[in-house]
Amino acid sequence: MLLTKSGLSRRLYQLANYDAITGLPNRTLIIDRIHHAVEIVAKKELPVAVLSISVKRLQNVAEIYGAKVYEALLRTVTKVLQTELREFDSLAIGAQKEFYVLMERLTDVSRVTNYCKDVIAAFEQGFHVLDQDISLSVSIGVAVYPDDENDAIKLLQLSNLALHHAMLRNDSSYQFFKQEMNNRVQRAGEIERALYSALNQGAFYNHYQPIVDSKSGNVLGFEVLLRWPQCVEYSVEELARAAEQTGLITRLTLQTLERALLELKAWQSLNNSLYVSVNLSAHDFQVPNIVQLIAEIIERVEVSGHCVAFEITESVMLADIPHAIAVMHALKALGCRLLMDDFGTGYASLTYLQSLPVDVLKIDRSFVADMVASNSHAVIVRSILGLAHNLGKRCIAEGVETAEQIVMLQELGCDLYQGYWFSEPVCGDEATNLITRSWKQALSLKAFDHNDDNTMSARAGS
Ligand code: C2E
Ligand code: CA
Ligand code: CA
Repeated sequence: MLLTKSGLSRRLYQLANYDAITGLPNRTLIIDRIHHAVEIVAKKELPVAVLSISVKRLQNVAEIYGAKVYEALLRTVTKVLQTELREFDSLAIGAQKEFYVLMERLTDVSRVTNYCKDVIAAFEQGFHVLDQDISLSVSIGVAVYPDDENDAIKLLQLSNLALHHAMLRNDSSYQFFKQEMNNRVQRAGEIERALYSALNQGAFYNHYQPIVDSKSGNVLGFEVLLRWPQCVEYSVEELARAAEQTGLITRLTLQTLERALLELKAWQSLNNSLYVSVNLSAHDFQVPNIVQLIAEIIERVEVSGHCVAFEITESVMLADIPHAIAVMHALKALGCRLLMDDFGTGYASLTYLQSLPVDVLKIDRSFVADMVASNSHAVIVRSILGLAHNLGKRCIAEGVETAEQIVMLQELGCDLYQGYWFSEPVCGDEATNLITRSWKQALSLKAFDHNDDNTMSARAGS
């Protein structure tokens, strides 16, 4: 088709500003319109609302049903979104097929809520396009001028922020922007900056807590516990949560591992079978080349993979079980040991336990803490030990704090201990002094005044 010069420029304008499938104006054009609307309101006209709309699983439709169904569906969705609009409202579409609505001259904000409710009701009916029944859910975020912002771009950003809150729900929903959403986002940004600067300044460091053999009383290894830099503005919990959410936790994990392996290398002149045990987060498991990154560090520091253990929790399996198991096998192939942390607190353990390449179960601190006073906790500890031993695995009791707990754990045949009774987590220098220390004498049952075999057995439910 030949186009005249003016026809060509009209076509170019069309391509640059309108969506090819739906014919709707694009994001640039709607920003212009919002801008204009805001200027009119500034002249004491009625409020405007900006809506950001996301249709969940829309992209999946293209993959499952093909382009034709996808395009037909997109046009049907457009019609639904247009139905309830008045002539001076505008509907637009963005590059990711997200929709925007600008509602002008609002005499009553309930018009916005009614529109949202009607759209959601229409989505709940489901769609029938090209002989396919397709169900989709919709999320809507709303910002209102002059209540929320007085700038077109910011108004759009706030409606997007509200949209992200609406999208946290599984079903269709709408959400008006609230100031506290903004505060939360701002604070998250500040925490993220604080984390990056701490990371770049090397402000994180390791502490080490000995893992003690129940028979010999010797230190077999250390759990590596990350210590966060002192920070007055944010709590450690906030920082840790932000590190998980931003994925920064994996850089921290790798730094922690490298620091620990460098210390381990020096310690091995005192005990060459000593190992360190590093905590891995669920996020670490999602990083595609995590095993390779770990292998590179082990190789660079020149220690044997056999001297490295990783502590994982059942949360690593929540996202993708086959992937998690593959990562575990790859870590085992490096020679590393795997410890299942906080054992007993999750729920999937029994089903997967026998198929997981895990060497050691760490009995959660909560069971150890209460086992002396609570018969049911003692029974749980006893059962975990029985289960582990039947599957050919060993057990570490975490959070051992009292002599009574040790007497009972000895009695139940627990293999390894860790807790304040032996040592709190300490810095590398202090850990050096613990390597040659033995608790053998202290662990001989006679050393405890409280030893009473019958009561202990009875409490453990034997
Ligand atoms: P966790 O892996 O279960 O670590 C054991 C926690 O129990 C540690 O707390 C340790 O200091 C504490 N603990 C040890 N013995 C006793 C005891 O006898 N009594 C009591 N009450 N507590 C004891 P911490 O160092 O505050 O670590 C908390 C959690 O933070 C860890 O729980 C682990 O989930 C996480 N974490 C620590 N370091 C790292 C790391 O390098 N990477 C990752 N991803 N997570 C880490
Ligand atoms: Ca741990
Ligand atoms: Ca633990």
